[in-house]
Amino acid sequence: MKTFRKCPSLDIVVPCYNETEAFPFCLAELRNIINRLKDKELISSQSGILFVDDGSKDDTWRLISESCQDHDNVKGIKLSRNKGHQVALIAGLGKSEADIVVSIDADLQDDTNAIEDMVVKYHEGFDVVYGVRNNRQSDTFLKKNTALLFYKLMSFMGVNQIQNHADFRLLSRVALNALLDYREENIYIRGLIPMLGFPSTQVFYSRSSRVAGESKYPLKKMLSLAVEGITSLTITPLRMIAVFGLSIAAISTLAGIYAIIEKLLGRTVDGWASVMIGVFFLGGVQMLSLGVIGEYIGKIYVETKRRPKFFISEEKGYNDVK
Ligand code: UDP
Ligand code: MG
Repeated sequence: MKTFRKCPSLDIVVPCYNETEAFPFCLAELRNIINRLKDKELISSQSGILFVDDGSKDDTWRLISESCQDHDNVKGIKLSRNKGHQVALIAGLGKSEADIVVSIDADLQDDTNAIEDMVVKYHEGFDVVYGVRNNRQSDTFLKKNTALLFYKLMSFMGVNQIQNHADFRLLSRVALNALLDYREENIYIRGLIPMLGFPSTQVFYSRSSRVAGESKYPLKKMLSLAVEGITSLTITPLRMIAVFGLSIAAISTLAGIYAIIEKLLGRTVDGWASVMIGVFFLGGVQMLSLGVIGEYIGKIYVETKRRPKFFISEEKGYNDVK
């Protein structure tokens, strides 16, 4: 194989929320992958797995802690409370010191064999490797259609993202550092990655069903991810208000001309024309103004909130004596 790059250390970053059932499968599977890649000398011996417990209420953290004691290539961090998949992922990515990171869900829906393809692509010179699913057969009817609607809505709003790619991807250290430079509170990682602009490619895989446990993404969380995606990446909704206001102002100008003509032809009750002009025109102008002001407030809102995104309450496998 043609390689440009030295043998990198790899961290597989896994956000976990109430994953007691899936965790043992996940741990065994990912350790296998790490060992296989080490044997093939695709990654260095410092490589390992980094689990992020996103404030789970079940035994997930206990399982993570135990696995950190049992295996020297496993680490874990625990967030102080549930902050959601995207934030848990950022916490893990920020904590990793590896040369390359692969993010993957704990439920093994993503094909772990694609990790090897991703690492090979890294050796070929790519800094971002997207895992893209080649079918949606394992999705429920609801999930399939909401996902489709979501992609349509996002692209209408001008957000560039890789279709059928979620958060299964490889990032090199340079790409990861660039991603971590985005310090926004509202974070939608898969929309930010294409903005980074490093050499990128895709590997295809087929997504299966959850290995164990239930989805932690009910419709409510999916909707809030969609809203987060849109509001954190684009101000198109604010612009739509402005465009709407402008259209109303244009229509009211025509309505105004009509009212004046009616007045001149003497077909009006006294006072009708001026009231109509005032209502239509001022309504339009107000909407336009609100849209413009909203645009600025939206920008300030996004820029000024510099809240910490998460707190790490416990760490395992870092300075532990092994
Ligand atoms: N997850 C998380 N925090 C949450 C919800 C989910 O860290 O608040 C994790 C979860 O443990 C899993 C990944 O995010 O590793 C994807 O969640 P899930 O598989 O439930 O979503 P789905 O595949 O159903 O969209
Ligand atoms: Mg899943």
